[in-house]
Amino acid sequence: MTDGLPPWLPEGRIFIAQLASGIIDYHQQVSTAGPFRLPYPANLQAALDKLTLLAWHQDVPAPSGVVELLQWAEVPFGDWKVSFVDVDVDPDEALLSYGRPTATCEELGSLRGDVEGEVRENALIASVMDKTRAANMPESYVAFRRLLIEQPSITALDLDEQLARPTLAVVAAQVREAYVEAPLEAITDGVVRTCGGCHGLRLPLDDARTWTCVDAGCPDPHTPGPDFAAAEGVWWLRRELRTFVVAPGRAELRIATAIGTMGVEVRLWPDFDACDLSVFESLPWAVDVKAWRSPVRLAQRLRQRPFRPPAGADRAYIVIAKEQVKAQPRYIERLRAACPELRPGQPVVAVSEQDFLQAVSRRKEGQA
Ligand SMILES: [Zn+2]
Repeated sequence: MTDGLPPWLPEGRIFIAQLASGIIDYHQQVSTAGPFRLPYPANLQAALDKLTLLAWHQDVPAPSGVVELLQWAEVPFGDWKVSFVDVDVDPDEALLSYGRPTATCEELGSLRGDVEGEVRENALIASVMDKTRAANMPESYVAFRRLLIEQPSITALDLDEQLARPTLAVVAAQVREAYVEAPLEAITDGVVRTCGGCHGLRLPLDDARTWTCVDAGCPDPHTPGPDFAAAEGVWWLRRELRTFVVAPGRAELRIATAIGTMGVEVRLWPDFDACDLSVFESLPWAVDVKAWRSPVRLAQRLRQRPFRPPAGADRAYIVIAKEQVKAQPRYIERLRAACPELRPGQPVVAVSEQDFLQAVSRRKEGQA
């Protein structure tokens, strides 16, 4: 992949992953620790050094520093003066939008495998799994996942009420850890605005008059949800949980509901998350639902960490949520091309949400 290029030249793929990680680190610092203080995150500085080498090699101007690098990150890759070979990004994708990391940025950052956010997400989920397993309360694990997906923003009072439920009390400490206070930028005139589509927060754009849902996969970003009084306390799910739990979670709940309506047995996150969905009582089908924006990056992740269906599963599927299939032409074909292990006939097959529901329906008809 680097044939004919000097060995000191950084690989585009590594540069972009490092830049994405650096941006996530930087955003984490500025949004939680108050005014930013130097030094910049190590990944951001290292990405700037790599980009400078790449620009120099291509004889185009490099960013003058981290501040300019962050401005570049707002620009779609197709408009960059520096070009890259062998990178898993589309020309219309950017890393930042209005100063906030995009879903593209999250996906690229997570592929490095050492991102703080992913480690924290995994540690939190693992700790909920330990607690609920020790208490022999699989229903508590399911209630935890549901709460995060259905209420990514929540008032302090509502959260207290939720935690008083016996199923959630056992993981109260973990639930509180999953949420952070709504950021100052979300509060205007004492009010925090929510989104009716995803139940997350709406944040102001640069002009401070337009409010927008920041969830790239929101099913209905233009319908406002209720306003919360900031003084009463408003909590917002941590960013990494919104990306890797809520986004696929919406599809998981929707698919489970559709299957339940068919009169077919379906379980969400069975046996403490052995898979996302288990469908049919006997000879069950095991499902892993994915909501990644890019099929190529998802393929990379699935090669790093393949889906291992639970023992006893008759068939196993990677199901791609309909939002992603709709947003990217030929999503399934591109995913299977980049990850041949997911083609029909293999032990785990990648399919669209729609095709999966049809397969369930056909099996149900066949049994009837
Ligand atoms: Zn929304």
